Amino acid sequence: MLIHENYFFLKKNFGILNMNQYQEINISASTLYIVPTPIGNLGDITYRSLSVLQGVDIIAAENTRNTGFLLQHFAINAKLFTFHNYNEKQRTKILLEQLQNGKSIALVSDAGTPLINDSGYHLVRICHECSIRIVPLPGACAAITALSASGLPSNRFCYEGFIPAKRKARLDFLQYLAKESRTMIFYESTHRLLESLADMVIVWGSLRYIVLARELTKTWETIYGAPVAKLISWIHEDKMRCRGEISLIVKGYQEQKNVLYPKYLRTLSLLLEELPLKKAVSMVAKLHSVKKNIMYRCALDLQKKRNLAHFHRK
Ligand code: SAM
Repeated sequence: MLIHENYFFLKKNFGILNMNQYQEINISASTLYIVPTPIGNLGDITYRSLSVLQGVDIIAAENTRNTGFLLQHFAINAKLFTFHNYNEKQRTKILLEQLQNGKSIALVSDAGTPLINDSGYHLVRICHECSIRIVPLPGACAAITALSASGLPSNRFCYEGFIPAKRKARLDFLQYLAKESRTMIFYESTHRLLESLADMVIVWGSLRYIVLARELTKTWETIYGAPVAKLISWIHEDKMRCRGEISLIVKGYQEQKNVLYPKYLRTLSLLLEELPLKKAVSMVAKLHSVKKNIMYRCALDLQKKRNLAHFHRK
């Protein structure tokens, strides 16, 4: 649908737009616009984004072919300029010159919000240093879209980007986040998803709750949450479930007081060999933040078993 058809459709059906509002978005000279684009569904582009893309002198795009298709869909003719992670520093110089010469530039990525695991950081930083005006537009972002549907706490969260591809780096990364109490957002590639989930079981345990958000805004959109071990089994039931673009939302760490992990019992058992029961119980309770009465019962059980074993040996 062309922009004007879209406009008339909205006006007719919802009466929410005023043509002047739509047309009167003035593009300022010497300004960098940061323009999000859809992460799947083209209907998610905003009117302001379309106006800016139509009005600027240059569109700096990660992939001019992909952005070309998007612009073509909305019948926008624009001057495209390649701007990718691998040429960002060198291309920033050219864009900065253009901005200083009065040109307006829109920065777009392949999908979603530029700079969120996409190029643009260097350009934005230099614009700050050179006092170039930056106008960010709100819009699609896979991380925020996934979080909003995850059912996990969204009042405090952290975005951690892509999980490292190499095993050692991945295990270190997961270990570093093991006690992160905020909801965590990750991007993951379809090829590594199962390996990463298996490592999460090793580092965080099989019960950590994870929401898989796949192909958001597209035909095969899937949102499924479960403890990580169950999530792995669910994927094994149908390998299509790990195909496409994937974001993971992970429940933050919660200290589980009064849960008896095997390591607590092991500490207790070792201490009981050296200390009187009451002292051993009090130390384990302090060490692992578990209630004393629970450890006390375990200590009595352990002692009973030991006494029995001792009796049978005699
Ligand atoms: N700048 C983008 C944004 O704002 O979301 C992210 C770019 S990053 C290079 C691409 C990754 O985002 C994908 O590998 C995937 O992990 C995630 N992603 C992108 N589109 C998605 C979608 N439709 N559903 C779920 N995750 C998506």
